[in-house]
Amino acid sequence: MRGPLNVSVMKTSRLIFVSATILTFVGLATTGRAADEWADYQTVGRFEVRSEVPIRQSQAISEFVLLLPSLERGITSSLNIRSNNKPIVINVFQSQQNYQKFVAQRAQEGRGRRALFVEAETHGSVYVYLHEDVLTDLRHETTHAILHSSLPFIPLWLDEGLAEYFEVAREHRASGNPHLRRAKLDARLILAWHPNLTQLERIQNLSAMTTVNYRESWAWVHFLLHGPDEARAILAGYLADIEAHDPPGPLSDRLHRVWPKPERELTSYLKSWK
Ligand SMILES: [Zn+2]
Repeated sequence: MRGPLNVSVMKTSRLIFVSATILTFVGLATTGRAADEWADYQTVGRFEVRSEVPIRQSQAISEFVLLLPSLERGITSSLNIRSNNKPIVINVFQSQQNYQKFVAQRAQEGRGRRALFVEAETHGSVYVYLHEDVLTDLRHETTHAILHSSLPFIPLWLDEGLAEYFEVAREHRASGNPHLRRAKLDARLILAWHPNLTQLERIQNLSAMTTVNYRESWAWVHFLLHGPDEARAILAGYLADIEAHDPPGPLSDRLHRVWPKPERELTSYLKSWK
């Protein structure tokens, strides 16, 4: 889920776009709008994109529809997790007002959030509204939807770190994410920055996650995807255990078995990343 709806704050800083909890709201499946009540809809594999505006009139939605298959392939191949046919419905409102009105009626836990992923037993639903950065919201929330359709559960920090990682265009994932510049600055502040995965793992409620927590979750994900072979093997093994319904324990325990101080590894990794 993505952050506050306060427009004035949104304009001042991209950094406040924190995500929020994943809602499990089974009732929405039966109380949401039918597909033909939207102005337009398009099906791509297991995805159905519903929109209040004709899809071809929006460059962002049109682009998103085209990139959906590669987004899904990118996530499942990077993480070596299986895809499935569970439907994912993506709902695009033409205005913040329409989005807020719908969320207030159907998913009150999501009020005050910029975008939303709702998990139901039968399918996942993404809710966004059109604004200049809607493509980022679409990729972020759809990442949650894909992860939750493949995995029986996923730790909060990892869920958000991955959504932050995949929310940018594919060509920017490794070296063009807005988090990277600040994370590299943080990494140089050796005495002032203490990225602590164990602390991140203790956060159970997304409302407790700060902007710094999101950036650090992203940084750990980056390290686990692009870092040393051991780090990539740890992530792969961890997700394989989750997929197999084996209680995985904290991922930080696995890092500590390889590195006495994983934070130091992360710091030097970020400093040297191009
Ligand atoms: Zn999120």
